Amino acid sequence: MNKQQEIDILSHLISIKSVNDHEAAVADYIESLFKPYEDQGVKIERVSYAPDRDNLIVTIGEGERMLGFSGHEDVVAPGDLSQWNSDPFKATIKDNMLYGRGASDMKSGLAALIAAMLDMLENHHVPGKIRLLCTVGEETGEYGAAQLTKLGYADNLAGLVIAEPGNDMHEIGYTSKGIIDYIVTSKGKGAHSSQPQKGINAIDHLIDFAVQVKPLMAKFDKVNPVLGPLTHVQSVFNGGEQINSVPAKAVMKGNIRTIPEYPNQVVFDTLNGLVDQLNQKPGYDLTIEYSFPEDAMPGDKDAPLIKLIEHVHDELFDGPIEPKGQAGASDGSEFLHAKGDFAIALIGPGNNTQHQSNECVDLDVYHQSIKFYQQLAEEFFAQP
Ligand SMILES: [Zn+2]
Repeated sequence: MNKQQEIDILSHLISIKSVNDHEAAVADYIESLFKPYEDQGVKIERVSYAPDRDNLIVTIGEGERMLGFSGHEDVVAPGDLSQWNSDPFKATIKDNMLYGRGASDMKSGLAALIAAMLDMLENHHVPGKIRLLCTVGEETGEYGAAQLTKLGYADNLAGLVIAEPGNDMHEIGYTSKGIIDYIVTSKGKGAHSSQPQKGINAIDHLIDFAVQVKPLMAKFDKVNPVLGPLTHVQSVFNGGEQINSVPAKAVMKGNIRTIPEYPNQVVFDTLNGLVDQLNQKPGYDLTIEYSFPEDAMPGDKDAPLIKLIEHVHDELFDGPIEPKGQAGASDGSEFLHAKGDFAIALIGPGNNTQHQSNECVDLDVYHQSIKFYQQLAEEFFAQP
């Protein structure tokens, strides 16, 4: 595959407006690229999450051990279009940088994995069994990865490489924080404020929760050497209807970033426990819900896969590679629940323009990353 063909794949992916939806068109396109190789034993599977939202799984090669590659098909919204110097859904090249929504996060990474695999097929040299997992909904809750994990598509992998961007291939993510978004709703009873005894003040009860949850979360005081401490932010507080009414309803939201030292279940138990305890009091009616929680990804920077990535990186790129912990969750947080114990690494082309206007990727880095994934597969299967 030549460089223009590599750019064409990335440009085509960017032209598909898979903004938190419509990943089926991305799956269609990737499927069309692999279809011509079906006589080489390429297996293409689709798993629909919702109408117009399809995960895609492409498996090539043969062997006992299976290496996983993964990328998400969705992108975030382009935001204020006036802040863009070009159409976010038309790849535009200037000074060897390619601009467009997803240029960093992570259509370049996905395109590089695809190009690497197509190259192997084109040259009739696939070094082992490789499975590409293309997911929906990473940006809004990793539910595509959750679905594929549940169905067993990531079971017993020998290693998984997710092509999320990291400082132009100079960062490797191997551990990340988990996320718990919680929503507490307090129900009371409305009444005129001149007769408060006739009502039940939902805000008062919610404030009790808001005040008491803080010291409970602060008790999780271990500090992970790479990721730092568990953090807790009470981020939204709404309640009441008007100034002369006893509020009948109040809602608060909080965001917790967990660390491997505290599995999410321990935090859930603590939050649920506080809600149960407050509900013992007369008139209290609190409920708590969680939205797409993710466990922390423990990771081991000395795992053979991480060491191999560092080695291949040194062969192909100038400058050092930095093992990193990440404060945000990725599809890795879901895939780690698959059967078997395998290392997960995040490394891909792209930079810190992700989720911003004028998102871009350095084309030299993009082309080199394709060689990197090929070389990585080659050396991965050469190892015993
Ligand atoms: Zn991403």
